[in-house]
Amino acid sequence: MVPRKSIHEKLTELANNLWWSWQPEVTSIFRSIDPVRWSELAHNPVLLLQEYPPDKLEQRAREEVMHSRVNWAYRQWREYMESDNTWGNTQAGILGYRPAAYFSAEFGIHESLPIYSGGLGVLAGDHLKSASDLGINLVGVGLFYHEGYFKQSVDTEGWQKEEYAELPMNALPLQEAIGKDGKQVTISVETQGGKIFARVFQVNVGRIPLYLLDSDVPENSQEDRDLTARLYGGDQRTRIRQEVLLGIGGARALNALGIVPRVVHMNEGHSAFAGLEIIRQRMHNDGMSFDNALRETAASSVFTTHTPVPAGHDRFDSGLIEEHIGPLAEDLGLNQEGLMALGRVDPQNHGESFCMTVLAFKTSRRANAVSNLHGVVSRRMWAGLWPWRSEEEIPVGHITNGVHVPTWLAHQMRVLYDKVLPAEWYLHTGEPQVWAGFEDVSPGELWETHQTLKNRLIAYARRRLVHQARKRGDDITTVEELADALDPETLTVGFARRFAPYKRSDMILHDMQQIEQICCDTNRPVQFIFAGKAHPADDHGKRILQRIYKLSKDAKFKGKIVFLENYDINLGRHLVQGVDVWLNNPRRPLEASGTSGQKVVLNGGLNLSIMDGWWAEGYDGTNGFAIGSGLIHAEQEVQDQRDAESLYEVLLNEVIPLFYDRDHDGLPQEWIQYMKNAVRTLGWRFNADRMVMDYVSATYVPAAGGISCEITTMP
Ligand SMILES: *Cc1c(COP(=O)(O)O)cnc(C)c1O
Repeated sequence: MVPRKSIHEKLTELANNLWWSWQPEVTSIFRSIDPVRWSELAHNPVLLLQEYPPDKLEQRAREEVMHSRVNWAYRQWREYMESDNTWGNTQAGILGYRPAAYFSAEFGIHESLPIYSGGLGVLAGDHLKSASDLGINLVGVGLFYHEGYFKQSVDTEGWQKEEYAELPMNALPLQEAIGKDGKQVTISVETQGGKIFARVFQVNVGRIPLYLLDSDVPENSQEDRDLTARLYGGDQRTRIRQEVLLGIGGARALNALGIVPRVVHMNEGHSAFAGLEIIRQRMHNDGMSFDNALRETAASSVFTTHTPVPAGHDRFDSGLIEEHIGPLAEDLGLNQEGLMALGRVDPQNHGESFCMTVLAFKTSRRANAVSNLHGVVSRRMWAGLWPWRSEEEIPVGHITNGVHVPTWLAHQMRVLYDKVLPAEWYLHTGEPQVWAGFEDVSPGELWETHQTLKNRLIAYARRRLVHQARKRGDDITTVEELADALDPETLTVGFARRFAPYKRSDMILHDMQQIEQICCDTNRPVQFIFAGKAHPADDHGKRILQRIYKLSKDAKFKGKIVFLENYDINLGRHLVQGVDVWLNNPRRPLEASGTSGQKVVLNGGLNLSIMDGWWAEGYDGTNGFAIGSGLIHAEQEVQDQRDAESLYEVLLNEVIPLFYDRDHDGLPQEWIQYMKNAVRTLGWRFNADRMVMDYVSATYVPAAGGISCEITTMP
C-alpha cells in the first residue's frame, strides 16, 4: 500500500508548482499557517515551509483545523494536472507530442519570483497560466535573474533609489532541468571572445514547464556569471549577451532536454536569435541549405511585437553582432554582410544597425501586434520590410492582449460571479454569452463587494505609507497623519505604471489650479493613488515620479494624493481590485495595448483612458470613460495640452457627477450600471484564455501544420 502523504509533503508539492498562485483557496491555506511571516516572506510558500518542519506544521494544521482544506486542495491539484478533457486536446491536438515553445525575456507569474519588470512579463506569465488552464502543449523559455528586477524606494527628495538583492535560490520553486543524459542541462554558446555557459532550471506553472537559463556557473568569467543577475541591467554588451543566452542558449536547452518544438513563439524581439540557432540545427540535422532551413523555420515561427516606441526595439552595431553571432553565422555559411542583412530593413544599407525586431520578422512567417490600433501602427512602422506591398497588405495582424482571470479577479468578486454566471463559467471565459448573466447581479451586492475591496485597498495603502515613511525616517507626525490617509467614501482614482515619459504619469498635474479644485472639493472630492517604477537609467522618468511624490507631501494634497513605492504584482493586485477608476493617459498611439485596465474591469472598476491600445476597441460609451477624441495632433505639446483639458472635462462633467449621484439607499445606480456594462461587454474579450485561444487557432495550429499562409488581421 502506498503510504499516505503528510500535510508537509502535500503542501511542499503544492508550493513547488505555481498553480497555487491562482488558487485563492490554496493561497489562503499558506497564509493561515502564519499570517505575519506570510507577508514578511513576500508570499513565498517555499520559504515559509522551510520555517515549518513537519512536526511544527502538523501542530499548526491541527490548531487551524486545516487537514481537510489541504486534502481538498491537493486533490484539486492532482485532478487539474491529470485531466485531459481540455480545450487544447480537442483544438490543438497537432501540438500533441511536440510543444509550442514560448520565448520571453521576462515572466511575471507571482511576486515571489520577481523576474519581470512590467507589462511584458506579466503578459507572458498570464499566457503560460492560460495555456496551462486550456491544456495547450507549451513550454516557456526565459532567463533566471538571480537579483531579479530592482526594489524601489523614494528618498526625502522624491528621488527613486534602486535596491538589488540576491534571490533565495534554495527557497524558490526551481528545480534542475534534467536532460536526456539524466543530468542538469547546461548549454554553451561560442562567441569570438570565448564561450558563455549557462545551467537550466525548471519552474512549473500548472501543466507548463518554464525553463530558465542561469549564467552563474563556475565555467564563466565573473563578468559572465553576472550576465543574468539583473533584468534590463548593464549596457549594450550585457544586453546582447543576455539575448544570445535567451535565444541561442534557449534553443539549445530545448534540444538538450529532448524537446523539438513544433512552433516557436517569440514574445518580443529579445529572443530572435533563437531562429538562427534553429536554422543551424536544421541544416546540421537534415542537411538543408540555409535558404530552405530559413523558410522552414520561419513557417513554424510566430512573432509578437509589443511596442511602437523606437527605444523598445533593440539595435546592435556590427561589431557586437560579429563578436557574438560570428561563430554561428559561419555554421550558417553567412558572411558578416549576409548576417547584418538579416537585421536590417534595407539589407544594402551599410549604415543600418542590426535590429532584433527585423530579425524576428525575417525569421517568422506569422507576426502580430497586440491590439487593433497597434496593428495599424506596426504595419506602417515596418512597411519598409515589404517595399513592394501597400500598407494594408503588410503581413502583420493583431491579437489583442488579455489578462488571466483567476489571477486578477478578487476572491470576493468571484463569489459574485459564481452566483450569476453559468456553472463552470471559468472554463469558458472567452465566450460572450457566459458573461451576459452579470447583468443580473444585484446592484446593492455589487456595490457592497466593491466597497469591501476598496476598504481593503485603503487599509493596505495606509500600512504601506506608514512603513515607507518610517523607513525614510520621516518625522513622527507625518507618519501618524499617514495612518488615516485616503477616505473610503471618496472617489478613488488609481494610476500605476512604469514611469516611461510617453505614459505621461503627471498629466493630471497639467493645471495645478484644476487639480486642486478637483481634490479639495468639499462635497465631491477625488483622491489619487500613484505607483510605478522608472527605469534605473531614465532620469526623465524619475523627475516625473519626483513631481508626483512632492505633490503628495504638499499640505494641500496630504492624504489625497499618495505615492506607493515598489509597484509589483502584489501591489498591482490590491490596486486593480480596489479602485473606483483606473486612469490611463498615454500619448496615443504609443500604448500598444496595456493590460492593467483589463484587470480593473474584472473587479468592477471603471476605466478613464485615452483611446489607445485595448481601450480603443473596448470603449462603447457606457462601460467607462474616454479621454480625447482619438485624433492625433502633429505637435506633441498641443496634443498633451488637449488631452489634459479633455481629462479635466471628462472628470468634472462625467466621472464625478456619475459617482456622487446617489439614490435614497446611497447607491450610485447609474455608476453601478456602468460597472455591470464593463464586466459584461469587456470581460469576455480582454482575458488571456481568449487571447491564447486566438494564438492557438490563428498562429500555432497553422504554423504547426507548416501551412505557409500569412496571419490576417483578426476580426
Ligand atoms: C498588469 C501589470 C502591468 C502592465 O500594465 P500596463 O497597463 O501595461 O501599464 C505592469 N506591472 C504590473 C505589476 C502589472 O501587474
